[in-house]
Order: sequence, then C-alpha cells, then structure tokens
Amino acid sequence: MASLLVVEDEPGIRTELIDLLTAHGHVVRSAADGFGALREVTRAQLDAVVLDLGLPDLDGADALRMIRGISQVPVLVATARDDDAEIIKLLDAGADDYLVKPFSGGQLVARLGAVLRRSAAPAAFPHTAAPVDGPPALITVGGLAINPRARVAHLDGTELHLTRREFDLLAYLARYTDQVVPKRQILLEVWREPYVDDQTIDVHLSALRRKLGERGARPRYLQTVRGVGIKLVTPR
Ligand code: CA
Repeated sequence: MASLLVVEDEPGIRTELIDLLTAHGHVVRSAADGFGALREVTRAQLDAVVLDLGLPDLDGADALRMIRGISQVPVLVATARDDDAEIIKLLDAGADDYLVKPFSGGQLVARLGAVLRRSAAPAAFPHTAAPVDGPPALITVGGLAINPRARVAHLDGTELHLTRREFDLLAYLARYTDQVVPKRQILLEVWREPYVDDQTIDVHLSALRRKLGERGARPRYLQTVRGVGIKLVTPR
C-alpha cells in the first residue's frame, strides 16, 4: 500500500485513475491543477505522484520543477506528447518515469510499482556495514532524538512523521545545534539543487514546525534569525 497523489484536470480521467489505484490497495489523493499538486506535496506524506502534464494553470515541466524544488517524491509523468526531446527534458527535470497517453491501467500500475520499488531500495546509509565516518547514530536536542542512520526522529518519545526533506533539514540543523546555519548553506548542503530559492526552505521549515507543535511566531526548537539563517536550539 502506498500513499499516492494523482494530478489530473479532467474529472473523468481523474476518477478513473483514483478508482484504479484504490482498487490496487493504495491510498489516493488528487489535485486538479499544478498549484493544487504543490499544496498536496507540501502537506501530505506521499510515496509517489502521477502527474498529468497538460494542466490548466502550469506548464507540466514547470510543475515538475516546482515539485522537485520542495520534494524528492518519485514522480511518474503522463504526457500526451510522444516526443523524444520532450521526454528527455522531463526526465532531466526530475521525472522518475513517464507514460504516453493514452495508456492502459495495467501499464500505469506496472510502472508505478517499479518506481515505488526503486524508491524503497536501501538509502545512502544501509543498516548493515554502516560507514565508520558516516553520520552519528543519535543526536539529541532537548526532547528531540534524531537518528540519521535509521532516518527516524522522535519528539518526547513520539515518532515524527517527516518527509524526506523535512528529515534532512532537521538532521542537518541538528549537526549545528545552537549555531545559526545560513540559508545559502542549507540550500547547498541539503537541497543540492541550483534552482531552489529561499522560500523553499521556509515552506519546509513551517511544515517541520507544525510537526514539532510550534509556530514561527513562538518557536521552541527552530528559530529563524532574520536575514541570517536558521538555528536549532535546546528549549529552555
Ligand atoms: Ca490534462
């Protein structure tokens, strides 16, 4: 069972896709346009996105780039254009795979299964043969316990359900507890992508704050130092 987002503006096709994927045991959310998709990607914990490229509000490749700016979630694009150059451009923009419309339900399910299997493969820090000079096993900051090797974080004993990016951001800030980390440094070290801007960090930061039960106006752990950067602190 995976948590999926279907982005499709045509209601008939959208319903068909939702029914098909739900019948295969997945939990399916949907969006009818590019900005709706971005909202869902920010808000929900997703395992994969099926993205129609012919959307009313955003060019499909731009929508894909914006999704990539805030998330590493696998994206399967559905394109009406069977055009090599176009498809290469999409794969370059961060698509994990593509389908040319019209496609069969069987084809979608198979491609999606492959994308999900790939993304579930062991990440950079496998449990066996952990690198000696790899990330520390556990970082604690007040009631926060962050385990970069297992990629889990707890707050006051309760596991936090973080997206990949949120976890990366938290774990990175935790390496510099009580120090201000410039946004530029975060973009370079956590995002490693040239086209993201500062606002991307803010989006993730506010999502992370929400999960930590705090607000930007009154932060406990995550303090913004205006014009400088972000600091993870031990609450008093
Ligand atoms: Ca469409």
